[in-house]
Amino acid sequence: KPTVAVVGRPNVGKSTLFNRIIGERKAIVEDSPGVTRDRLYAEGDWLNYTFNLIDTGGIEIKDEPFQQQIKMQAEIAILEADVILMIVNGRDGVTSDDLFVARILQKSKKPVVLAVNKIDNYEMRSEIYEFYQLGLGEPWPVSGSHGLGLGDALDEVVQHFKSLETEVEEDPSVKVSLIGRPNVGKSSLVNAILGEERVIVSDIAGTTRDAVDTAYTYEDQPFTLIDTAGMRKRGKVYEATEKYSVLRATRAIERSDVVLVVLNGEEGIREQDKRIAGLAHEAGRAIIIVVNKWDAVEKDEKTMREFELEIRSNFQYLDYAPITFVSAMTKVRLKTLFPLIQEAYASSHMRVKSSTLNEVLVDSVSMNPTPTDSTGRRLSIYYGTQVSVGPPTFVLFVNDVELMHFSYRRYIENQLRKAFDFTGTPIHIITRKRN
Ligand code: GDP
Repeated sequence: KPTVAVVGRPNVGKSTLFNRIIGERKAIVEDSPGVTRDRLYAEGDWLNYTFNLIDTGGIEIKDEPFQQQIKMQAEIAILEADVILMIVNGRDGVTSDDLFVARILQKSKKPVVLAVNKIDNYEMRSEIYEFYQLGLGEPWPVSGSHGLGLGDALDEVVQHFKSLETEVEEDPSVKVSLIGRPNVGKSSLVNAILGEERVIVSDIAGTTRDAVDTAYTYEDQPFTLIDTAGMRKRGKVYEATEKYSVLRATRAIERSDVVLVVLNGEEGIREQDKRIAGLAHEAGRAIIIVVNKWDAVEKDEKTMREFELEIRSNFQYLDYAPITFVSAMTKVRLKTLFPLIQEAYASSHMRVKSSTLNEVLVDSVSMNPTPTDSTGRRLSIYYGTQVSVGPPTFVLFVNDVELMHFSYRRYIENQLRKAFDFTGTPIHIITRKRN
């Protein structure tokens, strides 16, 4: 999926346009429970294209001068996006900040589409011409508040996608990403796993890869390791802000089959660890919790067990994720990683036969009757079927979806986990009314 980044000074109307582009999806993003999501990353579509949209205006470094902020936003856009949508304010004319941002974008050679906002009526169109001096090509008049002109600007954005299409090739490897706070040791782990054979597979100049991908073969199975930290050398803005590192994690998760949530054994668990792990869980990815720097921990025979309990109580929703304690530095227990990755991947791609599934459902209901509502109406589960993998997703056909309580859904999930080995993967249970 291509990525479009929106850049521009504050008050040019970036957020309004951002919201117009993502349209009704916005509501869905904001309603999703659990992790609080900043509205700086969303999905949009135009014509037959679906794309990721980043509002770089939402990323800021505290206490930095204004020019540093807009410079960082432009650099993030260049690193992350396939196409940049620069917004200027038609009522202000060209400002020195616009020129400053335009110069940074020009140097990057990334395609830029220039939208002149607040052109609310036809008479104002003549305001756009002075924006040719930004050197970013044709300025498109738009009005975020009136919803005008955006279609033409998006047409041009989509034009640029067409030249990207040939690059994308499906590869059969299992994608594994390492996510976690800065300095937990993600890069060190990748290096320790790969040793000398670090082969960069998609570090192609001019293409956007928000992480450096490396190929690795384990027991004849091809893997791709996605190292979100690998970009750091090239982009100094990397991890400058928490929002940006969360954004990067989100993007890495999106591309992965299995996510290694890396914790720092030396420092313990922080709020940001929970936030990042929550993203992987919500995305339905297979997850392994990796406690790194275990060499640096002063420990006795109880330490590991205690840390494990702490993880379980801090990450209750990740009860399916195995935990392993390693050291990138001394390579202790690094050998545990790939067997766990293989197992988690296999779990997340397991397909359960409908007949077996329904036996488990019938047994589950007979052991623990379905709930009733206040009027005494009882949930009936007629039958279930697995509809997809990655994560395994089951549809249960019922008499009334309202009767399926959270706790009963949880019970069914636990029964499925007892019957089948879903170690390392979330499973999704959806209810549908049978007509
Ligand atoms: P990243 O930001 O998560 O990629 O973290 P890095 O891989 O850059 O590591 C951050 C720091 O932690 C570096 O100084 C590493 O040398 C150190 N480090 C990484 N892994 C280990 C480990 O297993 N043990 C110890 N003691 N230090 C580590």
